Amino acid sequence: MLKTPDDRTTLLRLANVCLADREGLFDVVLGAGVIGSIEPASTVNEATEALDLEGRLLLPAFVDGHIHLDKTFLGLPWRPHVEGHTVAARIAAERKERATAAREMPMKVRACKLIDRIAGYGTLALRSHIDIDEEIGLSHVHDLLALREEVAGLVDIQFVAFPQSGLTAKVREMMDEALSLGVDLVGGLDPAGIDNDLEGHLDTVFELAEKHGRGVDIHLHDPGLLGTFELKQIARRSAALGMQGHVAVSHAYALGMVDAGELAATASELQRGGVSIMTNGPGNAAIPPIKALIEAGVRVFSGCDNIRDAWSPFGTGDLLERAAVIGYRAGFASDADLALAFDLVTTHSRAVMGLAPVTLEPGSPADLVAVKAENLSEAVASTPRERMVFRKGRPLA
Ligand SMILES: [Zn+2]
Repeated sequence: MLKTPDDRTTLLRLANVCLADREGLFDVVLGAGVIGSIEPASTVNEATEALDLEGRLLLPAFVDGHIHLDKTFLGLPWRPHVEGHTVAARIAAERKERATAAREMPMKVRACKLIDRIAGYGTLALRSHIDIDEEIGLSHVHDLLALREEVAGLVDIQFVAFPQSGLTAKVREMMDEALSLGVDLVGGLDPAGIDNDLEGHLDTVFELAEKHGRGVDIHLHDPGLLGTFELKQIARRSAALGMQGHVAVSHAYALGMVDAGELAATASELQRGGVSIMTNGPGNAAIPPIKALIEAGVRVFSGCDNIRDAWSPFGTGDLLERAAVIGYRAGFASDADLALAFDLVTTHSRAVMGLAPVTLEPGSPADLVAVKAENLSEAVASTPRERMVFRKGRPLA
């Protein structure tokens, strides 16, 4: 059963709120989907409907920049993970698993359970890749476009047309149709490592993007110099087409595998091409050097990626926990580092999705989450479990 906020439009006063960037307790008044005012506690008109937050820390809601709604097994009995040590082996294993999972519970129902779960954690916007291949055709696209309508009151969703099993001519046609139907971005997958056709794959991805006036988000697992070569090709195409700010590459493990000179050269091209990099703090794969990329002017953002699916049995969907995982993997420790980990799952992901920033100032969108933590550093480092979530100024039921 999906949590949905009630639709009353009266003001709501959040009393006794802590804020990450200032001392003291505050009363934050929410109304009409935005923050109306922020005043020292107990100075606001008592007549306003009030909710006492008892000193909880109020933060921007989380934004998952990379998730797969159509892959999760959530809602099914536990499924032992099927081994597969290469991307190609994992794709083959998933195709078998996918059919049996769909018979046990329709994908749309599982995706809905996942949205319900992550919204409860405080994720109120997400970018989901949708599988398109010759076996399932556009069925996942149709189901998830319908689901997006049903949950619009709860979360903002962007979709990427994702050629998980390769970008064949037939898949290209289906991706074209998916973009006409309302899927937002063009996806891609290891142009060299999976499709063995770097030029052809990127030609198709960027032709579709140009035709539909859409952005691009490519999965890139290819390692080392092969991966950075592909990143530079993507960045040059983005620059040539004036697509800066509308192109992302997800994973880009290669950035964590090359020497400092190659990293600097690649980062410089990514900056010129306005290409953002998504990392989820991968388990046993190389992680892109987040701070070096940001210093080079490259936007880095984050998401959960796989949540209990054929790719990984792990993943709770909690982006605050994900910020901690990324910080742990990246060797983050200072307060500034922990704040950066938080930015990856909030400000940076919002910017990549083109959403208005949540600033904890009057006029800011009131998509918010409150946690029991002394400050932002503790919130990131300790993953407090209890959450109070506010969507467009109203508490989730
Ligand atoms: Zn992914």
